[in-house]
Amino acid sequence: MFRVGFGFDVHQLVEGRELWLGGVLIPHHRGALGHSDADVLLHAVCDALLGAAGLGDIGRHFPDTDDRWKGADSKLLLKEVVRLLGEKGWQVGNVDCTLILEKPRIMPHVPAMRSTIAPILGVAEDAVNIKATTNEKMGFVGREEGVAAHAVALIQKD
Ligand code: MG
Repeated sequence: MFRVGFGFDVHQLVEGRELWLGGVLIPHHRGALGHSDADVLLHAVCDALLGAAGLGDIGRHFPDTDDRWKGADSKLLLKEVVRLLGEKGWQVGNVDCTLILEKPRIMPHVPAMRSTIAPILGVAEDAVNIKATTNEKMGFVGREEGVAAHAVALIQKD
């Protein structure tokens, strides 16, 4: 049996925060604002996986009113999502993601993101695809006020 899910997330970019994307710390003069480490890519992946399994969304499982998740490493959130799916008998098939941000360049960091995410999902690195695009200087992403991510996931069980 197969299911697919979709995830979307957006975070504001501000001075004085670290920029975590795909579980990797990216050197940049601005970082994403949020309750956790604000890793927009991992949040989109979490939502895609939860969506595929019919388990709601990241806000339901990790509410920003809960101090347990304050400053949390989003890799731990993703691990918990994979565990929740496992409880229902689901295994991850693959994920495909697109990051949308104006700066910095993401491609040099993609191999590290894939090798970070794949073992958490229990899949091969080629089952974690990460693409990046700018927003052609338009809108809040184009003005470098924020970063967005889309993700789709396939999950399977026997
Ligand atoms: Mg988020």
